[in-house]
Amino acid sequence: KLVSREFRPEDTIVDVNGAKVGGKHLAVMAGPCAVESREQLMEAAECVKKGGATFLRGGAFKPRTSPYDFQGLAEKGLAMLKEAGEKFDLRVVTEVVNQNDIDMISNYADVLQIGARNMQNFQLLKEVGKTHKPVLLKRGLSATISEWLNAAEYIANEGNYNIILCERGIRTYETFTRNTLDLSAVAAVKELSHLPVIADPSHGTGRWQMVRPMARAAVAAGADGLIIEVHPHPECALSDGDQSLTPKNFEATMAEVKKIAAIM
Ligand code: PEP
Ligand code: MN
Repeated sequence: KLVSREFRPEDTIVDVNGAKVGGKHLAVMAGPCAVESREQLMEAAECVKKGGATFLRGGAFKPRTSPYDFQGLAEKGLAMLKEAGEKFDLRVVTEVVNQNDIDMISNYADVLQIGARNMQNFQLLKEVGKTHKPVLLKRGLSATISEWLNAAEYIANEGNYNIILCERGIRTYETFTRNTLDLSAVAAVKELSHLPVIADPSHGTGRWQMVRPMARAAVAAGADGLIIEVHPHPECALSDGDQSLTPKNFEATMAEVKKIAAIM
């Protein structure tokens, strides 16, 4: 398998226009779940930069559980992401839910995110595999590690090796948390694959109170980075407010995870 350690013993470092994911440094991607307005995004981006992250995340196409929930600002949101990314020198990560939008989204974003719900959308995987854009591949809600690595294989098989894996929590019998963040999968992926793997303690827990401790744990477990939801006013967020950090909490989280990364 192309993504296996046997095929390539050394760690892959994905270079996103100079910002690296994998190897020794901790890559942090942060920003709102969804781009809601120019003001909201600019405020979030400023805080993301201040905290020391190098990537700005934000959804413009949201795969919401209910069709009546906010679906995202589409291309208008992408333009805001590009503007914020340029203003604060942050690489832009955003989700692609439809293969017909790949070229359009590529004009605005540096990393194409494949969401958990699309992890086994094989046509979508093949199409992002035909591009040269770095891909952030989230683990499916009920996917085994093997299924997740096979999804990465679909992308690599088309010629694109710029893949970043993301553990974002899986569905278990537990209901207190939104998902169960499977940090053992981070260690497993490090053993099985040369690809970088980051953790998403926001979707992995669904509760802002748990994001900071699980971010620390993920870095201690060997994650190459984190993706964290940050909102200037989480109580007003149009999606995932319960799991979004305030700017102040994000900065404190960053200070802690940097210390842990330094001794890894
Ligand atoms: C997101 O990153 O906002 C998102 C929808 O994530 P996931 O696909 O992991 O649910
Ligand atoms: Mn979200």
